[in-house]
Amino acid sequence: MIRISKPIIEEDEINAAVEVLKTGYLAQGKKVEEFEERFAEFIGVEHAVAVSSGTAALHIALLAHGIGEGDEVITTPFSFIATANSILLTGAKPVFADINENDFNINPDAVLNKITHRTKAIMPVHLYGHPADMKALVEIAEDHNLLIVEDACQAHGAEFGGKKVGSFGVGCFSFYATKNMTTGEGGMITTNDKIIAEYARMLRSHGSRQRYFHELLGFNMRMTDVSAAIGIVQLAKLPAMTRRRQENAEYLTNCIKNVEGVVPPSVKRGCTHVFHQYTIRVVNTEISRDAVVKELREKGIGAEIYYPIPIHKQPLYQDLGYDETLPVAERLAKEVISLPIHPAVSKEELKQCATALREVIYG
Ligand SMILES: *Cc1c(COP(=O)(O)O)cnc(C)c1O
Repeated sequence: MIRISKPIIEEDEINAAVEVLKTGYLAQGKKVEEFEERFAEFIGVEHAVAVSSGTAALHIALLAHGIGEGDEVITTPFSFIATANSILLTGAKPVFADINENDFNINPDAVLNKITHRTKAIMPVHLYGHPADMKALVEIAEDHNLLIVEDACQAHGAEFGGKKVGSFGVGCFSFYATKNMTTGEGGMITTNDKIIAEYARMLRSHGSRQRYFHELLGFNMRMTDVSAAIGIVQLAKLPAMTRRRQENAEYLTNCIKNVEGVVPPSVKRGCTHVFHQYTIRVVNTEISRDAVVKELREKGIGAEIYYPIPIHKQPLYQDLGYDETLPVAERLAKEVISLPIHPAVSKEELKQCATALREVIYG
């Protein structure tokens, strides 16, 4: 099976981790500090705060800005559940705005329609590695005095108008094993606000900035030095790994662009797409989307659906009383298929993917 994702761990990551293990200092320390400095520089912000996961990054970023009970945060229904759940975890209410068909991201006009006197923040997701429309979203945020919390968990290094995502608002990244760079599990918050960074550092470590002196209620959401050491090596390799993703995506698009009923992913002007996923839409084909996925898998292609059920349709959200219809998200959830283009996929394998797709669609 050509896997949909594969962490690229080489000798240098292994050596970096072993080196930390040999020191005997495993918990959050010097390596975490170094990783934070390098990541902040990479994104182009003043501060980065390492945490235990992308979910923790989103949760802490919201709490550090005082968001909670009684507040509303507008987000996309078409994402991994962690996006909206991070809002629920603070006690605030996720409000879903529908998405664009062409880039799968939150639609700024739909956001405008959902603003109320309770709205405190907008949480766009740069889904699959394609930036959301940050120009329109920043304008809306400025006009309505709203915070922007960017879920950049799939978009390390993606750019909008030459500026890295995660630098428009407060940025949240994940280093889970399948992401564009990994520490196994891990996350990062990026911000230009010194006070927010300090508050986030306290929240990740039991509300403490001085050992055994606790000023507020926090968590244990720290990163280990072992993870950070791996992250430092991965970050250095990220630009090359991203180029491979982009080359693979371009190659695959050239192979499949004439297949009837298949819409390959596109990149909007002014955007740099880092292709966390390469996601096609299957429209008006005789064979159903689910049958396409099943047959591709039988042919050894690790096709996946991200995401089969929009968040507002998940049982958790149905139980919470979400009963609206978000037509674009609901339709796209039935059309999308992601195909493997990660850096370890070869040209030969991309050709296999294209051939398999052609055979499946034309029967
Ligand atoms: C992976 C992911 C998260 C959560 O990150 P974890 O590190 O798994 O907690 C949040 N949002 C999106 C869009 C993701 O892809």
